[in-house]
Amino acid sequence: SNNRPVSRVAVLGATGSIGVATLDVIENLNRCDPELAWEVSSVSGHSQIESLIQLADGCQTAPHSVVVSNAENEPQAAQALKTAAAQPDSRLTERCLLDVGPDALVRAATAKDVDVVVAAIVGRAGLESTLAAVHAGKRVALANKETLVVAGPVVTQAAADNGAELLPIDSEHSAIFQCLAESRARQSHSTMLASSPNSTPGSAASDQAQSLNSSATPSWPGVRRLILTASGGPFRDWTTAQMREATIDQALAHPTWKMGAKITIDSASMMNKALEVIEAKWLFNVPADKIEVVVHPQSLIHSLVEFEDGSLIAQVSPPDMRMPIQYALTYPRRLPCPAPALDRSQSWDMTLCPADPERFPALALGFEVARVGGTAGAVVNAANETAVDLFLKRQIRFTDIPEICRRTLLDHNHESSPTLQRLLKLDVWARDRARELAQI
Ligand code: NAD
Ligand code: MG
Repeated sequence: SNNRPVSRVAVLGATGSIGVATLDVIENLNRCDPELAWEVSSVSGHSQIESLIQLADGCQTAPHSVVVSNAENEPQAAQALKTAAAQPDSRLTERCLLDVGPDALVRAATAKDVDVVVAAIVGRAGLESTLAAVHAGKRVALANKETLVVAGPVVTQAAADNGAELLPIDSEHSAIFQCLAESRARQSHSTMLASSPNSTPGSAASDQAQSLNSSATPSWPGVRRLILTASGGPFRDWTTAQMREATIDQALAHPTWKMGAKITIDSASMMNKALEVIEAKWLFNVPADKIEVVVHPQSLIHSLVEFEDGSLIAQVSPPDMRMPIQYALTYPRRLPCPAPALDRSQSWDMTLCPADPERFPALALGFEVARVGGTAGAVVNAANETAVDLFLKRQIRFTDIPEICRRTLLDHNHESSPTLQRLLKLDVWARDRARELAQI
């Protein structure tokens, strides 16, 4: 197995919840993939420098680069890397380069020998590196949903133009991607015709993945609705009055998933589902009215597709992000995964119930943003990132989060076909506006 071709992976946001799970998946693939050897070409982290170096040191082959995106942490990182590399059993050699600052993320994402970029940075901060990977024609395993929310049309167009594959890590979107297999097969003929002029004819697999979000792709044959499941978060059964008094600890206590702080707060407000509706719109190239949300507290059904005849296809597995992460890496292949399968010696309840947009106003906002598109995604995302940050600093109430998002959105002049530059300017404006609104 020494002769296996190598697949090289840049893990951006390696110190986060998705990043750490990705490194575990890669380590396991190296044991059980008969076709490919997997190498981590770079890891990035913004802070948590010690754990970043430890993660780099834990890779079977030392990464080519360790990226510290927050340049202020360079001295600490240089010292930690030196100390780690000096250990007798360390695999970190002088070949492992320390690269710092936001541009270093772009260098890691576009390095020639990189095959797959795992975009696992949280928030708008992941946009430039994700987009750079798309422009470089990489396979992008996308956890960083905010990039699609902010700049969906720009990113999907760039993917089509550069033959980049945009594969979802978000569990709901991975589930839908899997449930669409039949429709995708029916579509494959038109896909070949739709593949972009400057993309070299790839394998059938890569042509199929491109069809996922190519703007030239016709709608999915036979598909009626994409149905995203939502756990409902820790406040699923709370009244609005109770949510008004919610503490940080209560909002961070997610019942089924262990994730980074920002997405955990988003799950409690159901803004996460709102972002996912927008993500689904761009990723699968479907209008907002073809997307639905249902509440499913057990997080076993990761999403469903409804077909024209009323048949539902669901993807089911215990909640463990290593499953969708691995699928995005190995697609279209299926291999043993460190995430456990559903234990059938036990009973499992799988409840589905309607979502309540009255108690979770973020949801309606998400559908509205997905419907109008244009500048709305960038504005709502920036307002939300700001509001979540303010909530975590105890400066606003939990229920202020969706209200600040709604009002920031109302205050902006909507444009339907903004440039990337315009979107990034609006991102800055919306953060300021959200902060002002928080003070009123
Ligand atoms: P996390 O907070 O655990 O990790 C975030 C990572 O981003 C860390 O490596 C951090 O160092 C890095 N980072 C933070 N700020 C940065 C900046 N300004 N510049 C560069 N890097 C920065 O977050 P997470 O839970 O792993 O989520 C990452 C992304 O994946 C988010 O977009 C989230 O919505 C998405 N996602 C996560 C899960 C999950 O289970 N955790 C599931 C679905 C989608
Ligand atoms: Mg999700």
